[in-house]
Amino acid sequence: MTPPPDRVFKDGPLAGLAAWAVAIPMALRYRRLAERRAVLIRGPAGWGEFSPFDEYGDPVAARWLASALESAINPFPAPVRDRIPVNVTVPPVSAPQAAALVRNSGCRTAKVKVAEPGQDFSHDLSRVAAVREALGEGGFLRVDVNGAWGVDEAEARLGRLDEFGLQYAEQPCATLPELAELRRRTGVPIAADESIRSGASPEQIASSGSADILVMKVQPMGGVRRMLDWASRTGLAVVPSSALETSVGLAAGLAAASSLPDLPYACGLATSSLLAGDVVRDPLTPDRGEIRLRRPEPAPELLERWRPPEDVASQMIARLESVANHLLMASPCSDWNQAAIRGVRLP
Ligand SMILES: [Mg+2]
Repeated sequence: MTPPPDRVFKDGPLAGLAAWAVAIPMALRYRRLAERRAVLIRGPAGWGEFSPFDEYGDPVAARWLASALESAINPFPAPVRDRIPVNVTVPPVSAPQAAALVRNSGCRTAKVKVAEPGQDFSHDLSRVAAVREALGEGGFLRVDVNGAWGVDEAEARLGRLDEFGLQYAEQPCATLPELAELRRRTGVPIAADESIRSGASPEQIASSGSADILVMKVQPMGGVRRMLDWASRTGLAVVPSSALETSVGLAAGLAAASSLPDLPYACGLATSSLLAGDVVRDPLTPDRGEIRLRRPEPAPELLERWRPPEDVASQMIARLESVANHLLMASPCSDWNQAAIRGVRLP
């Protein structure tokens, strides 16, 4: 039997919904996180995940909540495909480890993390070389720089790395003007990731000529429909990706990926294995490089297993309520706010 929720909302913006807090240890430390906390919200259309990172204030977290509410209240849009190609992510490990990871993944696309603090460029070169070897000629190889390089450095390094055939480079520089300048100087396509999260709208990125491709995550975009809307308005290719979610949040990412009219690139949704566990019995993991479209529900024993200590659960629910009030009450002070509010029908 499903354990009692941490909160059932009787009135206010969340009326009719029930919420369970979970905290799952990370399998590997990522973003300096030891565990991933999420509030799972059950509503008439299913389950939604609210898991903004701790450092985000209410206005940013409101987009994440709009996404969770959309999942709980509105059915996902109709899909146009039911198998979603995904990439394996290669952390800054040694070249042999990187090659083994790619071979064992079954994926045809690999995203290689480069520019790790404390490592020099020779590590990046040997890791990328090993991944190309493991993928073979026909595989797709992209690098993620997390904004670490200046324009000159990025131009030179991408030139070297492209000898192994790059599909694109994700966030090679931190700012939009740098990305735009780099894009004029290199033939390697540029994808924006952190630029979107840090507040530039997808339209700003498109109109400033800073990127060819947008990495979009459903929660920070304010939901599946908002993400599809942004994608259609910018006209750029979109790579739906996860925000380190449980399979409840990943299902929303899969829904977005399955509904985009065009999906030219493998998606960043194969992240379930970064967590040491999941809330569903049959997690959304890839098989031969694809995740099958489905929407698994949390299992009672797993909600119980990952239930955090009482004080942590109370804090998480209090934050949810604070963000919900912000979402409902805040005078629309930014385009994002309006987007989040319009993107979801509140009960
Ligand atoms: Mg990235």
